[in-house]
Amino acid sequence: MTLRLHDTMTREDREIHPAPDGTLSLYCCGPTVYGPAHIGNFRTFVMQDVFRRTAETCGMRVRHVRNITDVDDKTIRQSQAEGKSLIDFTAYWSERFHADCMALNLLAPEQEPGAVGHIEQQVTLISRLVDKGHAYRAADGSVYFDVSSFPSYGRLSRLAERSITTGAAPAEGEAVASDEYQRDDAVDFALWKARKPEDGPNYWCSPWGEGRPGWHLECSAMCMCHLGETVDVHSGGIDLIFPHHENEIAQSEAASGAEFVKHWFHIAHLMVDGSKMSKSLGNLYTLGDIRAKGFTPAEARYTLASGHYGQPLNFTWDTLHASRQAMARLRKAARTCDVLDPSITAPLVRDGLGVFEPAHAALCNDLNTPAALGGLFTGLRELEKKGEAASAEDRNGLRVMLYALGIDLSEDKTTPDEAPPEALALAEARWKAKAAKDWPEADRCRKELAALGWQVKDGKDGYELIPVAS
Ligand code: AMP
Ligand code: ZN
Repeated sequence: MTLRLHDTMTREDREIHPAPDGTLSLYCCGPTVYGPAHIGNFRTFVMQDVFRRTAETCGMRVRHVRNITDVDDKTIRQSQAEGKSLIDFTAYWSERFHADCMALNLLAPEQEPGAVGHIEQQVTLISRLVDKGHAYRAADGSVYFDVSSFPSYGRLSRLAERSITTGAAPAEGEAVASDEYQRDDAVDFALWKARKPEDGPNYWCSPWGEGRPGWHLECSAMCMCHLGETVDVHSGGIDLIFPHHENEIAQSEAASGAEFVKHWFHIAHLMVDGSKMSKSLGNLYTLGDIRAKGFTPAEARYTLASGHYGQPLNFTWDTLHASRQAMARLRKAARTCDVLDPSITAPLVRDGLGVFEPAHAALCNDLNTPAALGGLFTGLRELEKKGEAASAEDRNGLRVMLYALGIDLSEDKTTPDEAPPEALALAEARWKAKAAKDWPEADRCRKELAALGWQVKDGKDGYELIPVAS
């Protein structure tokens, strides 16, 4: 069984080849933990999970690493606005992220390194780049990557085709210190950012003075630290192609001299009314919002996996309704075939797929999830026709497909003493209102919660919902 996936670098669908011992290394750029992740972020994480699961059903052992960005411009700014230490602030949002990942049935990565825990590796990487003449300390005390020293800069994002000159030395003052920049430009970018008063206590020592690592550097350092100089597959949303991944390639390859990534896997955006779902546009939905409308995380996952990852997916509430119906149908079939228990380890393709062969083939053909779901339902119709004659291969095939797509059919995961979705949404809205110092709104939410029979207890880093004693 060959697994093919589109590669952003070559613009071709290429076969995925594990190492001779069957392992495949996968690095995914993780969340920046300064607020709740939205379901746009989760489209990317869900598709990465489907890729990993599919590879596992093909017999590969996936060494999956996903980082946590726990220091950057945004985490520092927001932790300070809330009067919290960076560590406490990011620990709180990391936990919330993990809870959402579990609810969405995402397999936990083998390792989940954080930038703050890898300062040493990042400083070492910068030193290598400075020693090799690829980086310089500027007058502002920050260290920049010299883009002109890396002639192939811009290959991944085809910068040259977008009529931008690469390799040219930036004009005075052209280098960028910001972690995020939108300009379609090949400009020198910060590897080490000199300490500024607004950073507060968030700085570390380095040979170039006090400061902190730049955002782009973190992934290069952690990817090479945990998976070696060359990784099989590196992934993120398409917004990361430029400049983030372009910068990762430059830093890593200039330091190691080895090819950084064999295969680039990028996921197109989740959209709302024609715009990318994003925090800055304020058009986002969190898993809490989805629950508040009465939908389950499993239905959200099904919706997020229903479109091909290479195309933008438009989010509407109707798609969630459709997912609910599709899942009800699947649940019935799974019950009849007695394959309801979600597998912990991957059921394998080599044990036979029966009528689900075409469905799995679609997944292996550039992770074509809409065709795979179509194949799943065609397979189910054939199973119904077969009745008692369904074979062990058919049953294994259904198991394989449910595992690969991460479809969890256990009906309702809420425990009796867990707050209902409306209460969770109100508590979330109150928390947001409090953070924005909108006291009347926070108060309104508190009263509504009380009317539902729930009380919020605020802690140092978050809140707890407790039932009001009757
Ligand atoms: P961030 O926390 O902003 O660093 O993003 C985490 C991941 O979500 C990255 O891989 C982003 O590319 C991805 N992402 C952000 N917005 C969207 C969206 N609307 N649709 C799909 N993926 C997204
Ligand atoms: Zn990254």
